[in-house]
Amino acid sequence: MPILTGLGCSYKCTFCEHALINSRHHALEAKDIVKQMNYYYEKYNIDSFAFFDEEFLSDKERIFELTDLLKNNTNKFYWGTQVRASDIHERYINKERLQQIEESGCIRFSMGVESGSPRMLKKIKKGLTPEIVIRAANFGKNSKIGPDVSLGDNVSVGNDVVISNSLIMDNTIIESNTCVSDSIVSGKNILSLNNKLKE
Ligand code: SF4
Repeated sequence: MPILTGLGCSYKCTFCEHALINSRHHALEAKDIVKQMNYYYEKYNIDSFAFFDEEFLSDKERIFELTDLLKNNTNKFYWGTQVRASDIHERYINKERLQQIEESGCIRFSMGVESGSPRMLKKIKKGLTPEIVIRAANFGKNSKIGPDVSLGDNVSVGNDVVISNSLIMDNTIIESNTCVSDSIVSGKNILSLNNKLKE
């Protein structure tokens, strides 16, 4: 079941409505998120949740309070969320913390990275570099949480598309739980991805 635990986004990607309305991120407290989840479980028997927030991981204290609460909660849940690729790094979501998140029931991180082309990432002010994208996409090798990497900014053409696709296909450790979606991916790269998944 999709739910929101926060509204708005403090980033300013040029194509996004949050940049247009100059929004800021506001989030529910961890205890109120678990309260909602328990309510839906007890009333409707729902035990799986998708957090559709734009900045789910931006508050470090909240995410670790939430994972503690979920781990110790009587009702057990599965959950997934959208995350910013820049939040997946050793100083924040490192191996130990990833395990803590996994133990709280998390099964998927979805990352909208839009492009693997340095030129396009800069142009759309995504706040990411190809190195950050690779690092985030490869976190799955240490975890059962499935990384879901979304490419396809819908404005890239020519060489930017080639660079973008080869970034993920050539550099990412594709695990059986990895999902790469790309609205402009070529047939050749879909084939290459399928072959990697079979290995
Ligand atoms: S990080 Fe995501 S939600 Fe925030 S401005 Fe960029 S595209 Fe929009």
